[in-house]
Amino acid sequence: MKVLTQEKERLSEVRSLLGLTDNEVNLLLRPKRVEAKTLEVDGDAYPAWRILHNNALGPGKGGIRFHESVTEEEVESLALAMSLKNSLVGLPFGGAKGGVQVRAKELTPKLLEKISRAYIDAFRHVIGESIDIPAPDMYTNSQVMAWMLDQFEKITGRHEPAMITGKPVELGGYPARGSATARGGMVIVKEMTGSFGLNGGSLTFAVQGFGNAGLYIAKMLHESGAKVVAVSDSSGGIFENSGLDIGNVIQIKRDKKELALGEVGQKITNEELLALEVDVLVLAALENQIREDNVDAVKARYVIELANGPITPVADRKLFTRSVVVVPDILANAGGVVASYLEWSQNKTGQILETNYLDKKLEDVLRSAWQRTFGLYMERNRLISLRLAAQAIAVERILTAERLRGRLA
Ligand code: NAD
Repeated sequence: MKVLTQEKERLSEVRSLLGLTDNEVNLLLRPKRVEAKTLEVDGDAYPAWRILHNNALGPGKGGIRFHESVTEEEVESLALAMSLKNSLVGLPFGGAKGGVQVRAKELTPKLLEKISRAYIDAFRHVIGESIDIPAPDMYTNSQVMAWMLDQFEKITGRHEPAMITGKPVELGGYPARGSATARGGMVIVKEMTGSFGLNGGSLTFAVQGFGNAGLYIAKMLHESGAKVVAVSDSSGGIFENSGLDIGNVIQIKRDKKELALGEVGQKITNEELLALEVDVLVLAALENQIREDNVDAVKARYVIELANGPITPVADRKLFTRSVVVVPDILANAGGVVASYLEWSQNKTGQILETNYLDKKLEDVLRSAWQRTFGLYMERNRLISLRLAAQAIAVERILTAERLRGRLA
């Protein structure tokens, strides 16, 4: 099995904190199942994977990513991250991930549908509502989930909507799934503000990334009265010292597709956005955005990882040394998987749950995950990072489940 450098590095800190044995560490680093296939579609071949990292707490849960850079190692590492995230927030799920190596941006809708159905043909035997439940990820959306559900049900000959989440509402999907990650992020921002005794009304925010996660959190922050002074997308960023009118910015994004083409605020680069004098920096774009080479420029005192893996381990250590508080991805962006859990549980029971109930449940789950994480951080007199606290809680829950099952001596 390949060694996952970043995860191994990070788990070594958890190992020291919890005093883990070699057996325990190996169990965490080794996925339970790795399925690799080649999808043959219209004469082309696409490498594809479904990896179940751990299932001690429940069936696997994690998205399917379509991208040309997808590799087995990446899918494996994302599956491990899903195990930690699901465990931290207390869901009855293990962790899993899937991927197809394909130039997703260039696919016609017909070819996208064929590849989606071929994925289910290839992995149907390891997927199911009580086995491993996929969801959308990069370049897969609710339409892809609908095709996959249809293909699965065609093969099995029965309805099983809980086999996949992130579906359109008409097929049992969660209403407002698109904004769930940001809503979860907002719960975390509010909890963080209270726990650190900050004056929420006076904080300034910069948000990197203006897609599903970034656009919604910028909108919600603005609506809550917070001052969002900068946002960016892949075309660059915009800055307004007195605070941006996010409604206008969203209109620009919708009309012109790129923020750089709008006439609002002062144009800045993404590197400049990361270095702004703001209280809170929200990273909602891509992985590896704060690295050894640019970490010293970061001036924010609080960083929220709405994206997956936006800070490298070296940069993370530097931020910790400078007492910058980083809210880790497995906590900050867990709103999406909590929504997936609610969708799955609604589909399994056949109940139709009220939107108010779903919203409240999402908030409760995240608030409680924050409180547990912050509790351990305080118990350790702030000598560990919030990331280490979150990972330690997640790892302990997985290992306890493994022990209770008698799978760990
Ligand atoms: P998205 O594709 O909708 O948006 C990504 C945004 O980042 C786009 O606005 C893009 O222009 C921008 N971007 C790309 N490169 C950039 C750069 N160099 N600098 C600044 N902006 C850049 O994706 P998303 O769904 O919003 O996901 C963003 C991140 O959040 C990813 O890491 C994803 O894994 C993570 N995440 C998303 C969800 C969710 O429910 N959407 C859930 C959990 C985690």
